[in-house]
Amino acid sequence: MAEKLNAVKGMNDILPPESARWEWLEATVRDLMARFAYRNVRTPILEHTALFVRGIGEVTDIVEKEMYAFEDRSDKHGQAEHLAMRPENTAGLVRAVIEHNMLYDGPKRLWYTGPMFRREKPQRGRYRQFHQIGAEALGFGGPDVDAELILLASALWKAIGLTDVRLELNSLGQPAERALHRAQLIAHFEKHAERLDEDGKRRLHSNPLRILDTKNPAMKDVVESAPRLAEFLGAESLAHFEGLKAILEANDIAYTINPRLVRGLDYYNLTVFEFVTDRLGAQGTVCGGGRYDGLIEQIGGKPAPAVGWAMGVERVLDLLKEQGTAIPAPVPDAYAIVPDAASMPLVLRTLQQLREAGVRVQMHAATAEGLASFKSQMKKADGSGAIHALIFGADELARGEVTLKALRDGSGAQTTRSLSEVAAWAATLQSSPPTETPGRSQVSVPPSGGGLGEPGPRGSTTN
Ligand code: ATP
Ligand code: MG
Repeated sequence: MAEKLNAVKGMNDILPPESARWEWLEATVRDLMARFAYRNVRTPILEHTALFVRGIGEVTDIVEKEMYAFEDRSDKHGQAEHLAMRPENTAGLVRAVIEHNMLYDGPKRLWYTGPMFRREKPQRGRYRQFHQIGAEALGFGGPDVDAELILLASALWKAIGLTDVRLELNSLGQPAERALHRAQLIAHFEKHAERLDEDGKRRLHSNPLRILDTKNPAMKDVVESAPRLAEFLGAESLAHFEGLKAILEANDIAYTINPRLVRGLDYYNLTVFEFVTDRLGAQGTVCGGGRYDGLIEQIGGKPAPAVGWAMGVERVLDLLKEQGTAIPAPVPDAYAIVPDAASMPLVLRTLQQLREAGVRVQMHAATAEGLASFKSQMKKADGSGAIHALIFGADELARGEVTLKALRDGSGAQTTRSLSEVAAWAATLQSSPPTETPGRSQVSVPPSGGGLGEPGPRGSTTN
């Protein structure tokens, strides 16, 4: 046998039944984005490295050490390109907005989802390929849209039944205000230089605000006693912050002000926020965002304000699991039992008609050993979680009929259905309309049995 090859470290396969949780979350997000009138964008995974250097900042962990960046092979003109796998998607989205002049007819609300890549130390909640869902509002300057974005995230928590997150909020003010603060911050850290770790010392002059973001417990005291940015904010910045808080309060969105919340990225101004949890260890931030009014200009566009957030899909799903939230398992409406291979043409024709009518049907297909016995097919039907079995016995087929057996209501009742009238009875097999999205019918699921992968009656949670 050939040597076995495994996935790259920190990059995960997402397989059934786990993948059903992803599909469920994605469907909920799609529905919610439409309700908030955010429109989907899809940008490439590879971008010019320069985009991230400019858009994220040279002195950030991402650009300094986490990016998968490489020199591409030279083209026929001998030109090699410096390319990078996107470590986040705000820079790419903003590039696309500028490149396609999307703000020419006014502001835009956009969202995306997809894989991101960072060469980090893999651990729970921290992977080298991970997935984000993001929402960005471009061209809006007021605190109302900051609030809208926070309400959008909160609506998502509600729709998926996530309860163990809290909102932390801060204002970074404007660049001029930060410059005043920065001078005092440097003075403070210089005075206590012996307390800084290597990263801290390196950032002392390049990016002292980021020292506040340290995860090193040994630096806790020196960070706690540092001058607070809030004391340097002018009237306009304060009014923006107050405007946001008023909308959140009117919507009963609880928050705490975290003066040390500065975010990992350098292009933020005014509002910054994170949704955090205590249940995922050190990887407790499930969603982070804020205003980045300077980014569009920095990437070469006409200056325009912007605000957005990104959430980590793996962390959200992990937290749901941690909470014991059950997610509807994707079980078929019916399982087709086929005792005789000669019946297959007629069986597949019937199943095709059922699926056209929206019924989810799993067929018992032959393995390398051929078709299984009737008894073992019945067992498989049961194990599939299907609500009905459709038994295509030779006798019934000869009469132009199929037997319908109830698998879940305890009755085991059997009735027959005419093969010439499939369209007329197909709907009775459907446990839920095929166009249904999870967010619509199911706001939150009680954390009891019937978890993913343990097939159970779908009807009980969705009807
Ligand atoms: P952290 O402080 O945890 O490293 P970050 O500040 O680097 O997060 P952002 O760049 O703001 O994170 O990305 C937004 C969200 O994406 C994070 O809040 C987190 O949920 C998720 N995320 C970031 N990096 C990873 C990763 N390596 N693996 C899984 N999820 C991640
Ligand atoms: Mg990080």
